Amino acid sequence: MSEVIRIKGMTRTYTIGDIEVLALRGIDLKVERGEYVAVMGPSGSGKSTLMNLIGCLDKPTSGTYELDGVDVSALDDTALAAVRLQKLGFIFQGFNLLARTSAVRNVALPLFYAGDPNREKKAIAALEEVGLGDRISHRPNELSGGQQQRVAIARALVNDPALILADEPTGNLDSTTAEGIMAVFERLNGGGRTVIMVTHDENVAHHAKRIVRLLDGVVVSDDSVTNRTV
Ligand code: ADP
Ligand code: MG
Repeated sequence: MSEVIRIKGMTRTYTIGDIEVLALRGIDLKVERGEYVAVMGPSGSGKSTLMNLIGCLDKPTSGTYELDGVDVSALDDTALAAVRLQKLGFIFQGFNLLARTSAVRNVALPLFYAGDPNREKKAIAALEEVGLGDRISHRPNELSGGQQQRVAIARALVNDPALILADEPTGNLDSTTAEGIMAVFERLNGGGRTVIMVTHDENVAHHAKRIVRLLDGVVVSDDSVTNRTV
């Protein structure tokens, strides 16, 4: 099966008191293995809600979601946590690294939770994959912002996930550093990795091969990028 994501009729309603917010109103989305997708849309359009659902951090109100062949729509929290550990790699705007911990240990963390005895070797390989083989013992405060984001990318790769999810991965970086991070994504995708990233930046989005645009909780356009930046 070549589909990593198959979402049908997904909705998510938040209830605050007696007010209902229809954050997602029926999303249909398929993503094939090896795709590189940017999710765009104005503030409040449902991007974070959709990414939380794709990332198994939240459950849909209705609809179905198959991730890498597993129907995750009905799993409980424990099972979802296991799916996250096994199948997903997360990259956040704020890097989310442990401050007093070396790059190699930060990267090895998901494998530590998974009880993998080869975690250090795999963490070093992941750091080499993002061009940080010579920085494995550095702590985050001894690294530049771009290097910290590379450590976070290495951490997202280390469990060999079916899907890499990035939420505004260049949001805290200047444009030159952001281009460097986009070059890393390009290499990862070129190596066959599936990447979905949220961005509000058209320049960043045009590194992807496909752009899905949300408005008011629905997909309003879904197109291949013809004029890619590589
Ligand atoms: P985006 O990431 O595109 O800015 P969100 O997915 O964060 O959009 O939000 C979509 C809609 O859902 C917005 O109207 C927002 O106010 C609402 N929303 C998001 N998270 C919550 C929440 N935890 N509780 C209630 N409403 C929420
Ligand atoms: Mg958001």
